[in-house]
Amino acid sequence: MAPHRVVIIGSGFGGLFAAQSLARSDVEITLIARTSHHLFQPLLYQVATGILSEGEIAPTTREILRGQSNIHVLQGLVEDIDTDQRLVKWRNHNDAHETPYDTVIVAAGAGQSYFGNDQFSTFAPGMKTVDDALELRARIFGAFEQAEIETDPQRTAELLTFVVVGGGPTGVEMAGQIRELASHTLRGEFRTFDPSSARVILVDGAEHPLTAFGQKLGETTRAALTKLGVEVRSTSVVTDVDECSVTVSTPEGNTERIPCVCKVWAAGVSGSPLGKVITDHTGTELDRSGRVVVDLDLTVPGHPEIFVIGDLMSVPDVPGVAQGAIQSARFVSAIIDARVKGTTPKRTEFTYHDKGSMATIARFKAVVSIGEKFKLTGFPAWIAWCFLHLIYIVGFKARIGTLVHWFISFLSNARSEQTNTNQQMVGRLALEKLGAGSSGRLVAGEE
Ligand SMILES: Cc1cc2nc3c(=O)[nH]c(=O)nc-3n(C[C@H](O)[C@H](O)[C@H](O)COP(=O)(O)OP(=O)(O)OC[C@H]3O[C@@H](n4cnc5c(N)ncnc54)[C@H](O)[C@@H]3O)c2cc1C
Repeated sequence: MAPHRVVIIGSGFGGLFAAQSLARSDVEITLIARTSHHLFQPLLYQVATGILSEGEIAPTTREILRGQSNIHVLQGLVEDIDTDQRLVKWRNHNDAHETPYDTVIVAAGAGQSYFGNDQFSTFAPGMKTVDDALELRARIFGAFEQAEIETDPQRTAELLTFVVVGGGPTGVEMAGQIRELASHTLRGEFRTFDPSSARVILVDGAEHPLTAFGQKLGETTRAALTKLGVEVRSTSVVTDVDECSVTVSTPEGNTERIPCVCKVWAAGVSGSPLGKVITDHTGTELDRSGRVVVDLDLTVPGHPEIFVIGDLMSVPDVPGVAQGAIQSARFVSAIIDARVKGTTPKRTEFTYHDKGSMATIARFKAVVSIGEKFKLTGFPAWIAWCFLHLIYIVGFKARIGTLVHWFISFLSNARSEQTNTNQQMVGRLALEKLGAGSSGRLVAGEE
């Protein structure tokens, strides 16, 4: 009998862990992802701020899975899933392909949401991909370079003001790192200004940063950021973004235009467009964040052969974090394995085990929250953060490289990965002008 054909869409935490969990199953897997790498998103901010190289957080999927004989890895942009014919339709550049499946696992993740203001993305890039992180690196270091030759003090102030939108872990980590870069790493390198005079402003709609960590850790984080020199603007929403400014409003009706060149958008997520493809074909629902509402076993209602996992699934009380993707991947793999063997799976309803959350604020400072009771702050939290991230980074090579770069950055304040290029800075906007931009219409690559 022909082996059961499983197509996995995506090579993030969901796709990769599903593939690995099916390594010993009698299935023939095809993994299709629009990038050739597996991306460790939690460390993207370190690529953007010059601590790590992109290779350390994005090893190739092919290399990770080379020892797994039941898998075929393909790079391509999936555009459609024909749920009647059971075909995944995808493209690599201009070549169209179709791959048949008996079971499909959709692990296409989520993108940035600008809450209906997609035009903000032109000047305030998000941080979801390697391209995003490298563009931000070019924008951050580029702003300091331009400030060195600027003679108009007003323009210099604009160049040396960095606005980070979103007070979740990514926003907090970015704001903390830009501040440390300005205060320590770049000290003494410029002749016409003092880099430590740079302003870093964190804008967030909530009452305090890190809302998911509770009020106490949120206030601790605000105090730590303020001490570092980050200006934290809580209960403020961004109402406009242009090339040289961000406009923020408060519930009291105060509006402020903050002149700034470099902005980082770290607020809001929206499910991959493949969610809509699935709902169009199957009639199931999308939630408000564009994620697919699935049954308790993570299948699409009426389609036991279609699983949606990770950031793209909508399951109450499951946050869009790596553990959600990893646990859902292992859960659906066990179901598929049992089906192939003709046995009953141990679990038929997905339950999420919350292992806690952590975020770094700056060098030697982090916060950890596990359940209602266990909270950790400061240096011990930072050590726990380093340790856990090292464990989850994929591959020995990447772990060693990361460890070396962390030693350089955390012990001496230097950063080894400051290189940035014009193409990184303008590439996305140039592609958008060609009509090949964020939807990746021309190329199979990152959005
Ligand atoms: C900046 C940042 C920091 C984060 N920090 C943390 C953290 O500290 N802790 C934590 O637990 N979580 C963190 N997260 C969240 C965590 O990374 C995600 O929850 C997790 O990556 C979700 O895994 P996934 O497999 O569902 O999606 P992803 O990891 O996003 O993977 C999606 C995959 O699908 C592919 N894909 C998408 N569309 C298509 C298509 N049309 N065709 C083919 N392939 C496609 C992509 O290329 C990618 O391979 C962070 C996320 C970001 C962006």
